[in-house]
Amino acid sequence: IPALSLSHLTYIYPNKKTALFDISFDVFPGEKIAIVGPNGAGKTTLFLHLNYTFKSKGSIQINGKDISDYKNADRVKEIGIMFADPDNQLFMPTVFDDIAFGPLNLGLSEDEVKKRVKDAMEMTKTTDLKDRVPHHLSFGQKKKVVLASIIALRPKILVLDEPTANLDPKSKRDVLAIIDRLNQDGITTIVATHDVNLLSELADRVIVLNERIIETGTPREIFSDI
Ligand code: ADP
Ligand code: ADP
Repeated sequence: IPALSLSHLTYIYPNKKTALFDISFDVFPGEKIAIVGPNGAGKTTLFLHLNYTFKSKGSIQINGKDISDYKNADRVKEIGIMFADPDNQLFMPTVFDDIAFGPLNLGLSEDEVKKRVKDAMEMTKTTDLKDRVPHHLSFGQKKKVVLASIIALRPKILVLDEPTANLDPKSKRDVLAIIDRLNQDGITTIVATHDVNLLSELADRVIVLNERIIETGTPREIFSDI
């Protein structure tokens, strides 16, 4: 069964702007997917459906179960979403607290929470930042801390909206390496990007979105069309 299945999703903003029209696609476990499309294509709107902020006509199934049938705590174990702006996902007094917040909410033991935070900080190279105030960090550091906070929940699907945008070259390489490593470990990765240079690295399959699905194919197939 698909890890994620969208069926006939349509979303219209209150001002009547259609952001998504009749979106259907399946993502299978372990796949490495890129979603590309220009600014305003609907990528962020789509991802706001995946954390159940937006609800639409059409359906979303995660691991065979309708998204509306998940409790919050169960859904975040299935799917983790990193939005483009890290400031909206950091809210605790220290980096450690931010990364520990999700696992604590799952009701895990203190030892298990500490282990998950330690592992997530190691993977994202944020261990040295553990006592820092998240809002005082650089943009690249914030992105890594948000990524750590999601990794600590150990979701089976990881969704990232423009994870490399506005990063310096070193942070960009670090983030790409983390995504690749997670995918190698069996995590399904779905990355929105408008950097076509990263497609072959980030995706086995590309979905071109612009309000509706324009086409899907391998990076090579998509490249030959643009
Ligand atoms: P992307 O993430 O691909 O840049 P978005 O999902 O942010 O695209 O936006 C999709 C479309 O919906 C765009 O035309 C955008 O201007 C519009 N849109 C986004 N948010 C709102 C909103 N709150 N109200 C009205 N229109 C919106
Ligand atoms: P992104 O490309 O990451 O979606 P945007 O700059 O398109 O970022 O959007 C930033 C914010 O502005 C979002 O919260 C989005 O919902 C809102 N927004 C975007 N377009 C519109 C619009 N046409 N009307 C109202 N709000 C909008």
